[in-house]
Amino acid sequence: MLPIVKLPTATLRERSRELSREELLLPEMQKLIDDMIPTMYAAEGIGLAAPQVERNIRLCVVSKEADKSLKADLVLINPSIAKISRKTNTASEGCLSVPKTSGKVKRYSDLAVSAWDRRGNPVSFQARQFFARVIQHEVDHLNGILFVDKATDIRSLD
Ligand code: ZN
Repeated sequence: MLPIVKLPTATLRERSRELSREELLLPEMQKLIDDMIPTMYAAEGIGLAAPQVERNIRLCVVSKEADKSLKADLVLINPSIAKISRKTNTASEGCLSVPKTSGKVKRYSDLAVSAWDRRGNPVSFQARQFFARVIQHEVDHLNGILFVDKATDIRSLD
């Protein structure tokens, strides 16, 4: 299990760098992925981005619970997202790196996602609603952006 860093840790505020295929296939990178997934589940998160475990690389994991279409947890390397409609929705979010805080965030409802899987193979798919929200939240992490930067109605859950 990996420690999850919280605000104001600097890693959370940096733009993470892209990974090369060579680097991705290194045993230590595969081990990091293998460690991030149980770390996410233990913390009861639905997604976890590398900056949250103090690595500024463009890697995130998303729980298969994020969407009923998912048969396995998703590993996204160097993800890029594009909105495929102008539709947005607003819902409450939280973050493992911003404990005991919630806020309402407006997100795009329909996304096209491209990334590599953990072997470096290109993957692309569409994501909607909650699934799209999770991916936007995780990609924001890779850019040093936290949900509290975009949220309204921020509340302490203490
Ligand atoms: Zn988060």
